[in-house]
Amino acid sequence: MLNAAKFLLLLALLLALAWWIGGMPGDVTAHAGDYVITTSTPAAVLLLFIIALLFTVVLRVLGSVYRAPKSVAAWRGAKRQAAGEVATQRGLVAIAAGDAAAARAEAKRAGKYLGESPLAVLLRAEAAKLSGDVAGAKAAFKTLAAHKEMRFLGHRGLLDASLGEADHEAARRHAANAEDAYPGAAWTRAQRLTLALKARDYSTALGLTREKNEVAALAVAAGGQADNPRDALRYAKIATKAVPDFAPAVVAAAAAFRALGKNRAARKAVLGAWRGAPNPLLAAAWFVPGATPLERAQDALELVAVNPGHVESELVLAQTALDAGLSAEARRHATAAIATGLDDGRAQGILDALEGKPRGTGRSGGRSAWLCDACHNATAQWAAICPACEKPGTLHWRAPGTALV
Ligand SMILES: [Zn+2]
Repeated sequence: MLNAAKFLLLLALLLALAWWIGGMPGDVTAHAGDYVITTSTPAAVLLLFIIALLFTVVLRVLGSVYRAPKSVAAWRGAKRQAAGEVATQRGLVAIAAGDAAAARAEAKRAGKYLGESPLAVLLRAEAAKLSGDVAGAKAAFKTLAAHKEMRFLGHRGLLDASLGEADHEAARRHAANAEDAYPGAAWTRAQRLTLALKARDYSTALGLTREKNEVAALAVAAGGQADNPRDALRYAKIATKAVPDFAPAVVAAAAAFRALGKNRAARKAVLGAWRGAPNPLLAAAWFVPGATPLERAQDALELVAVNPGHVESELVLAQTALDAGLSAEARRHATAAIATGLDDGRAQGILDALEGKPRGTGRSGGRSAWLCDACHNATAQWAAICPACEKPGTLHWRAPGTALV
């Protein structure tokens, strides 16, 4: 409606202009050499208009001819770009589907259309990796690592390749570069943790985790590598702060206290943990090094007083009595341990020993163990890293009587 009104208005204006020009009086004379051209004013204005119109049209045509090669190139470029994008999309889908041959073909196509564009290079790298072409993948990831926006992905790929080749030195370098490219990335931290664990560099590993069980286990391990008891004690405190009464940490703290000449502090630490969660490791750390069997049997009484009747308390009393030759005491406490219903074979082993049966005929070496949360492997000795699955902080004491998870 508005457009129609505008059109009518324009038409009226043009008509008025034509009417005004048509009604112009006088004439126009042009001299060109010996020629003289005379015409009326309206005709001269019309002629001028036609010349201007022709001039504009000629200029337009010349411009189009001049720009034609560029336009064609832009059109072809857009077409190649679109084809390259389709190849990239298909390549990514092929990688997700695990189809290495298709991924390689699409990567080749993407490279043909997009050249060394970062996405085409990434596709080439991932396709090579999927195909097991380590050298090809490394070359492509190296190209990517030089790209401003994509260098994290480049170093990530190179780190994976280095780990695959067990080249831990190169892996550490790429981890540092990845951290530099994308500071604070969770993935990078996990990789650096893995590398530190492989290198048995527990103090570095400790700085790379915040998970409480990992902190506790790695702090104990780092304390074991400490040069002096003061540092060892500092690490043990980090461990018990993360997981209170964590037996390996309490044992480490007790050892460090003893090395510093603080025997009372050592015994206090063990006693505190025994009150909360008795454990054979703690029992071993309780006794003064070099004590006689009889001294140990007496000393055990002080330990179990904070948690009387517990199966581990009865077991300590039975074992130390057996070692000291106090048969009646040993039998009484072994029987009490069995009566709790939680004996894992150790109390029965003590009774068997009292009856002169050879070791191993009873149920000794039973169910108590350090059990891995991750792989459920059971091991007699605690370790910061599960010997089966190599995960840190996964070993937990499965007390007698507790069901297998
Ligand atoms: Zn494990």
